[in-house]
Amino acid sequence: MIKLRNIHKSFGGQPVLRGIDLRIEKGEVVVILGASGSGKSTLLRCMNLLETPDRGEIILNGQPLGKPARDGARRYDDRDLQALREKTGMVFQQFNLFPHLTVERNITVAQTHILRRSASEAKSIAEHYLAKVGLADKATSLPTQLSGGQQQRVAIARALAMKPELMLFDEATSALDPELVGEVLNTIKGLRDEGMTMAIVTHELGFAWHVADRIVFLRDGKIYEQGTPDEILLRPSLPHTQRFLASHT
Ligand code: ATP
Ligand code: MG
Repeated sequence: MIKLRNIHKSFGGQPVLRGIDLRIEKGEVVVILGASGSGKSTLLRCMNLLETPDRGEIILNGQPLGKPARDGARRYDDRDLQALREKTGMVFQQFNLFPHLTVERNITVAQTHILRRSASEAKSIAEHYLAKVGLADKATSLPTQLSGGQQQRVAIARALAMKPELMLFDEATSALDPELVGEVLNTIKGLRDEGMTMAIVTHELGFAWHVADRIVFLRDGKIYEQGTPDEILLRPSLPHTQRFLASHT
């Protein structure tokens, strides 16, 4: 479904991604692990062009995005951005809900403005996904009236309402109180059971083990080791993976 080829990204001359090759098949769940600063968020942000890679290709359903430019870079126009953004949904650590809009308006606003759905269609899609994340009764609440876990589930419903083919999660539970983590992880597990394609950055190793088809361990902007959850979490073969796991369990 999405393939990254030799993706490089630097900030202020500092290389952050140094040649990432990653392919995610339709229905596959890939968990990305790595120490702070290893480039996990930058990698996810390159996958939906929130960051523009300096070099390398993003191939979406067999089509390379953008046009070749100088030095191995590619130039992306609005059509490329739209193609990718329509197919990807992203959920962040901070829920980023609009505080002055009701839960339902949070979920309909991009549907009507970006996808040009009618108000009534957007509303019924919002209701569908709110029910799916277990919040059917919160449509008229404001975000501040919800717990952190509920707000994050609204953010997930908002992303799903765009009907993405690929969901990206960047530490979606890191800002939550421990007792609220489980409800959000269960929502993500439910998506997995329905066959959603996902790339997930998380520090929850038990969850990673349950949800991942494949685990990719990043170190200094490169894929250092990857494999099945058992291979990476139970029998990591390389020293930095072993050290990371030892410090996270
Ligand atoms: P964490 O686990 O702390 O979230 P991460 O693996 O997600 O870390 P990134 O956020 O991808 O790491 O950052 C990798 C490196 O790139 C860091 O050194 C960070 O300071 C730098 N970086 C990321 N985004 C930017 C930016 N917009 N401008 C400058 N430097 C950046
Ligand atoms: Mg990060």
